[in-house]
Amino acid sequence: MKRYIIGIDLHGTMLDKNESMEEKHVRALIRALGKLKENALLYICTGNDLTFVNEKIPDTLRDVFDGYVLETGCVLSDKSNEKQITTPTVQEHCRELKELIESKGFEQIKHQGRRLSTISLFCDAPKEFADIISKFVNTTEFSSEFQVTYSSVAVDIIPNGFHKLTGLELKADNKKTIGIADSMNDFPLLRYADFGFMPANAAPEVIAKLEADGRPTYQMDMYEQPRQGSVGIVQGIETKGVIQILQILDDWMD
Ligand SMILES: [Mg+2]
Repeated sequence: MKRYIIGIDLHGTMLDKNESMEEKHVRALIRALGKLKENALLYICTGNDLTFVNEKIPDTLRDVFDGYVLETGCVLSDKSNEKQITTPTVQEHCRELKELIESKGFEQIKHQGRRLSTISLFCDAPKEFADIISKFVNTTEFSSEFQVTYSSVAVDIIPNGFHKLTGLELKADNKKTIGIADSMNDFPLLRYADFGFMPANAAPEVIAKLEADGRPTYQMDMYEQPRQGSVGIVQGIETKGVIQILQILDDWMD
């Protein structure tokens, strides 16, 4: 019986800085995830959309997953379709806010991701740009409806009440939740999932925020047991770190 549900982030976690994965890592991921399938549902948990997942994740690896939590918890996918779980009003306000941001012509924005229920502004320095965007959103009529967060590659504007864990929990059916992620837009997932894990490239400000909020983090070696209510940080970065985390989970679940 499956007692766990695992949500894995893409940018800075399963994907490296070039939005890619080494071939040997893809094979290792498929092997490690395949072993976990007996005990866990497997979800990609990303701020991105279905198009991005299909473009960046090899089909042999996508096959192993049960589905995707997309757009930071605002969209669920069975791997073929996208289902928005936000209301039409939220979606309309999201479009209006997006137009307001576009009308300001922020030169930091390199491109926007295709989004149904959120806004993703890809840029070079997401942490700094998130402050600027947050101040701007606060000047609009939508300030009380959206939160501004950021990943290693983009500033994300998310309707209030949604994050990666709210999306994962819709699929959890009382299973224990396990979040694997690296960035500030993953904070609620790492903070409130039953178990949290980060690769070694984990953003320092996320670690600091977790600690300040009463969620202990710890450096984890390959022989250590996962600790419920804590966030373990492994030695490998990005994809390699994820493979280590999955191996730790497999040893522990056996
Ligand atoms: Mg990330």
